[in-house]
Amino acid sequence: MRELQFERSGRLAWHERDRPVIVDPHDAIVRPFIAGRCDGDTVPIHRPVSRALRVGMALRLVDPVVGSICGRVPYRGPFAIGHECVAEIVSLGPGVTGLRVGQRVVVPWAVSCGTCAPCQRGLTAKCATTTASGGTLAAYGFGAACGPWGGMIADEFRVPFAEHMLVPVPPGIPAERVAAAGDNLADAWRAVVPPLAAREGGSVLVLGGGAKSIGLYAAGLAVAHGAGVVDYLDDDAERRSIAESFGASTQEGQGGYDVVVEATSRASGLRRGLRALAPGGVCTAVGYYFATGTRVPLMHMYATDATLRLGVSHSRANLPGLLDFLRRTGFPAERVTTHTAAWDDAPAAYTARTTKLVLRRDPLGDDSV
Ligand SMILES: [Zn+2]
Ligand SMILES: [Zn+2]
Repeated sequence: MRELQFERSGRLAWHERDRPVIVDPHDAIVRPFIAGRCDGDTVPIHRPVSRALRVGMALRLVDPVVGSICGRVPYRGPFAIGHECVAEIVSLGPGVTGLRVGQRVVVPWAVSCGTCAPCQRGLTAKCATTTASGGTLAAYGFGAACGPWGGMIADEFRVPFAEHMLVPVPPGIPAERVAAAGDNLADAWRAVVPPLAAREGGSVLVLGGGAKSIGLYAAGLAVAHGAGVVDYLDDDAERRSIAESFGASTQEGQGGYDVVVEATSRASGLRRGLRALAPGGVCTAVGYYFATGTRVPLMHMYATDATLRLGVSHSRANLPGLLDFLRRTGFPAERVTTHTAAWDDAPAAYTARTTKLVLRRDPLGDDSV
């Protein structure tokens, strides 16, 4: 069976691995047919960061937690990559109820059980059961430090706790629309929808360009959720035009935003976003900030009663609300996809310098039964 693996910066390849089998009655085997490339995956692909991160951790310039997610030698290939997909269920363990073979499902990037205390609180990416062996995260597509799960760009893969993990795609939603629902789209959701719900009609600033697709999803979701103002800032013309197509402005406003989404993935963007907040505003930073010693303007935050939200996205917890919104509104999330490639071309396509790559192959069935 084939699985896409990251070998080193700029190089990916298909590798053979054993076909997955049901090992627990609550397992499922799924066949992905749409896969998105997470914004974070471009970090090791487009830059040779492995050595710099290793040296940085040794010198304490990079937070050592990076090693517990990406390995003590971060991003050392080969490892199976890919953690956003829509899949068809191929087989189900005897203990799984409520799902059927052939059903189309979104698979969250983080592996969670659904019943432990963190899962019950919605912290599904911090599941106590799946991280019990000591990892910081249990996830697809990050290598051995995040568990034995492999990547999602594979002929098939195994999903534990299937009744909880697999979220059926509601009828009427094209699979391409939810290519990133298992990670980046859900990440944008949590950065915009709950803070805007608490600040109805509020103004939103998105600093884009680092977490490239998340920033665009956030701009679109903000417009669709009734934000009074949505300003999307990015130096990339293609992304600005996508943001405008969602109804966002690409001019910087007067400041004083109720909600800021920091998607530049830079400490300077973090500081800029925090300083742009209105009193009582919330900034959610969705990028990676590897360096220690980030200068966060705490006194400015104190003076404006600012909230900074950071953290892995608990996509499983957000999927029901997100999918229901997509079903009701037809929000065209697929507009963020800037490049669609054939599944077989994944090794070359996954290195593309494009905002959002989606891989696709034909599904086996039509999921209408
Ligand atoms: Zn991701
Ligand atoms: Zn759990």
